[in-house]
Amino acid sequence: MPFIRDFSTDILIIGCGAAGMAAAVAAADSGAEVIVADDRPVPGGILPQCVHSGFGLGRYGQELTGPEYSEREFRRFRASSAVYFPGCRVLSLSPDRTAMVSSSDGLKSIRFRECILAAGCRERSIWSLPVSGTRPEGVYTAGEAQEMTELGGYDIGSRVFILGSGDIGQIMARRFVQLGKTVVGMAEQRGELGGMKRNQEECIRAFSIPVILNSTVSAIHGYPRLTGVTLHHLDSGSDELIECDTLISALGLEPDRELAESLRNESGYSAWLHFCGNADFVHEIADSASAQGEKTGKIAAESALNSRNGGL
Ligand SMILES: Cc1cc2nc3c(=O)[nH]c(=O)nc-3n(C[C@H](O)[C@H](O)[C@H](O)COP(=O)(O)OP(=O)(O)OC[C@H]3O[C@@H](n4cnc5c(N)ncnc54)[C@H](O)[C@@H]3O)c2cc1C
Repeated sequence: MPFIRDFSTDILIIGCGAAGMAAAVAAADSGAEVIVADDRPVPGGILPQCVHSGFGLGRYGQELTGPEYSEREFRRFRASSAVYFPGCRVLSLSPDRTAMVSSSDGLKSIRFRECILAAGCRERSIWSLPVSGTRPEGVYTAGEAQEMTELGGYDIGSRVFILGSGDIGQIMARRFVQLGKTVVGMAEQRGELGGMKRNQEECIRAFSIPVILNSTVSAIHGYPRLTGVTLHHLDSGSDELIECDTLISALGLEPDRELAESLRNESGYSAWLHFCGNADFVHEIADSASAQGEKTGKIAAESALNSRNGGL
């Protein structure tokens, strides 16, 4: 049996992104003990990889980049009494209000009164679609491509095709052009572009990204490296071979609630479990995730402080 270190707290927050940090500050300022566990080594969730500007207009009245927004939020977080456990992945949540956590210095068990799930969202991958052909290198989700490019400094390819017109795909299309790559095209199965109007203007139109509406990728070619994709035109039924060495999917995001699934019953989730940020619903704007985090932090703190007399 491995050695497990025990902790207890009023509120456990899972995720130290925009939502988790704001929830932690609000809960700690309300008088609750707070632990925030995040599996990444640095705070901010997806913010550090969003190097473009467009964050913070609502919250700070000025346009910040993702890393700048994250830094401001983290400063507030550091000034609070909340305790931060970086590099700690929550493996499970039990009905007896205990979390099992893995970290580089071993396993931790954290007992809590209330838990806030601020674990962000997941990207739908291309492998969830009926796509035939090979499974080569050079196929990434837009978020993976963004992380590898902006945080890892990797050069992931030179002729890029993008499937799906979600916001991250549009932002990455612009980024690839800025990096001197060729964006061969962006396929969208619907008859209009997805994403925010602002990204359509600033990323697609301003950078002349070729958009092919009513189309999808039906086959992938090349091995070990991608050499092209078959583009299927949904209106005419015709197929076209597109040569590319990189395929990026931007097929949408969905809340990551995996940890909560085992706690769900016919009447919903346990009352001690709260959701905020992209784990609740996908927020287009970080300010909105932070605002919801604040509200959730206050609500959880009120419940935790009310239950203190009864003990854990
Ligand atoms: C590419 C992109 C561009 C964007 N551009 C803008 C923009 O221009 N302007 C704007 O305002 N907003 C923008 N947004 C939206 C905004 O950034 C997000 O909505 C917001 O940052 C989400 O915050 P979050 O805290 O909910 O999730 P996240 O930032 O995803 O944080 C969740 C954290 O939880 C951690 N985690 C997950 N599971 C576990 C576990 N089991 N144990 C421990 N930790 C775990 C994750 O690793 C992560 O660190 C953009 C989003 C993306 C993806």
